[in-house]
Amino acid sequence: LLTNLLLALVVSTSSYAQSYDPVILKKVNTLLAKMTLEEKIGQLNQYSGRQVTGPVNEQNKTQKADISSGMVGSMLNVKGAKDTREVQEMALQSRLKIPLLFGLDVIHGYKTVFPIPLGETASWDMQLLEQAAHIAAKEAAACGIHWTFAPMVDIAKDPRWGRIMEGAGEDTYLGVLAAKARVRGFQGARLGGTDAIMACAKHFAAYGAAIAGRDYNAVDMSEVQLWQDYLPPFHAAVEAGVATFMNSFNSLNGVPATGNAYLQRDILKGKWKFNGFVVSDWGSIGEMTHHGFAENDTIAALQAITAGSDMDMESKAYINGLALLVKQKKVDVALIDDAVRRILYKKYELGLFDDPFKFSDPAREQRVLNDPSHAAIARKVAERSIVLLKNENKTLPITTAAKTIALIGPLSKSKLDMAGGWAVQPVDTTIFVNIYDGLKNNASGASILTAKGCAIKGNDRSGFEEALGIARQADIVVMAIGETFTMSGEAKSRSNIGVPGVQQQLLAAIKATGKPVVAVVMAGRPLIMDTVNAQADAIVYAWWLGSEAGNAISNVLFGKYNPSGKLPVTFPRNLGQIPITYKQTSTGRPVLPNGDITYRSAYIDVVNTPQYAFGYGLSYTTFGYSNLQFSKTSFSGNDSVKVSFVITNTGNVAGEEVTQCYIRDKVASIVRPLKELVGYQKLMLQPGESKTISFTLDKNKLAFYNSNLKLITEPGEFDVMIGGASDNTPLKGTINYK
Ligand code: BGC
Repeated sequence: LLTNLLLALVVSTSSYAQSYDPVILKKVNTLLAKMTLEEKIGQLNQYSGRQVTGPVNEQNKTQKADISSGMVGSMLNVKGAKDTREVQEMALQSRLKIPLLFGLDVIHGYKTVFPIPLGETASWDMQLLEQAAHIAAKEAAACGIHWTFAPMVDIAKDPRWGRIMEGAGEDTYLGVLAAKARVRGFQGARLGGTDAIMACAKHFAAYGAAIAGRDYNAVDMSEVQLWQDYLPPFHAAVEAGVATFMNSFNSLNGVPATGNAYLQRDILKGKWKFNGFVVSDWGSIGEMTHHGFAENDTIAALQAITAGSDMDMESKAYINGLALLVKQKKVDVALIDDAVRRILYKKYELGLFDDPFKFSDPAREQRVLNDPSHAAIARKVAERSIVLLKNENKTLPITTAAKTIALIGPLSKSKLDMAGGWAVQPVDTTIFVNIYDGLKNNASGASILTAKGCAIKGNDRSGFEEALGIARQADIVVMAIGETFTMSGEAKSRSNIGVPGVQQQLLAAIKATGKPVVAVVMAGRPLIMDTVNAQADAIVYAWWLGSEAGNAISNVLFGKYNPSGKLPVTFPRNLGQIPITYKQTSTGRPVLPNGDITYRSAYIDVVNTPQYAFGYGLSYTTFGYSNLQFSKTSFSGNDSVKVSFVITNTGNVAGEEVTQCYIRDKVASIVRPLKELVGYQKLMLQPGESKTISFTLDKNKLAFYNSNLKLITEPGEFDVMIGGASDNTPLKGTINYK
């Protein structure tokens, strides 16, 4: 049956990467036929190897013995040309000499650190995302790494969830594009070269919808929402040829994702014909005992392999339990063969059987890690990830009239925080540019005074006086505030996402000097920033921008780069509004007469709009939208409508705008959102310049999952809204699908 299934895959799929090459498949099957059951199970076993190199000691002797006897298929957390070579040599002592796969969390850079994925997505520039992932892959591949556990393609609508930093934000359309771009970037045109590594779409599925934003929490959601909002980025990753998937810690509607056959067998390997392999999340097979879903690790192994989890990351449930389960006839060897086949196939595809050390070349490692072009690209990505949230009285850019600039705040000189919570350890801070150095590099003539003012956490105000002292001497104050890199990320959910400590009090005290204040806010998530919003003259949202953070920020502050980022996630006004997204489902309350989204079924104690909406971001110039036209207003079948409009740079400097196209399905068989992004274009315009932009809308753009989980387009009217943010769409019209 399995052979038939594999054959069916070969024949039925047209996507390049999700079909099997018969030559490789033959090699895989020949090797598989030689393997003992124990050796097969070994391939499904993955260990973390922080201790595995060097002489034998108490901590590493079991791992070393398991590797050299062929009981390990993959290692994570071993890196560097030298160490990976050493560990690969151990694996080659085994009877069949099957090379190991080396995996690592290369999330947003390896040595060169790019902005955190959420920040990078604010660029809305998919070519840049792809380029950043490509450089990360190139660097990692030169250091022995075959496989990154990225991209995280979990849609996340709750900023309390610490891992919101690691994804593309709240929107599915943007999430789909980001997933594809990042997979392409990591994997290149195809696997097998020494600048491409396997990507891993994670965490399958719905991890980002943890109840109340508490990491690892259960997820309960309707099937319609799952298919409509959460699965598409995963499907997109499959279409882009992603080599691997990772399942997740959460349960989904009562079934842990790791033991979830519906997700992994029916959807991923069945409906989507995914031919790569699925790795569990760290220990997630064993964790099913804590879920109360499995009595013990052996039952957990049974549930996981049955459900389609191919590789066991660190729980040892497979290596300890699968042989027994086969003996007891609870697991068919065919099931194990299928998992092994998928893993071996990737090892062949990477070329590891031809040269197990091809990624472990010290000379290439040196060359690639010191490639000077990488910093320039990191700077470009960082500049484009910055979102200008506020700019009263043209406080920014800083002009040459500013002779003295005060840089104040706990993040002024930090390098490590710029790396964010998922940088590869240890971070090489010698290549990092902090804000202070960035300003000095740029501020021709102006003098830069600096003071910390306060720490990020705690309530010590003893540094305020010094900070106020330099503020009084300055023409303008730049404040570098936000979160430490340890405050967002895995297991970093926060119930209070305000600006921590006394940073806002410091800002208020400085504002009281009467000097213009620019807040540069760095964080892994949207922060709720009451005082900053109310009192700062300008707000630059800079996430954690990576190794070139300081240069990118100063280029924006001095106007050498005109900011173009747009928020990939909604910023709430207060905690009680969470979860809040632009894609509100229509309610029984009518839309306001001016056509704007109504929040009228909402709270009585807060303005019911977000603080900053999805898609929002300012520029040093302004843009005008005009002349909306439809090639036709009524269409049917596979026909399409061309929506065009004119965008004009109405300000004095060149700048880029992300023009966004939203639709609303006015009447449908299930209640649809008030607004849904279906297209965007980012373009550069000189002052006074106009361009005509067009979007094509066809039935695919108008489709949704109905209550039978069928993707359909229902006839009827659709509003089309175009503008520069989800809450600012000056152009509106209606089309009719018949
Ligand atoms: C995370 C994964 C990560 C893995 C390996 C887990 O705790 O959830 O995203 O890839 O650890 O480090």
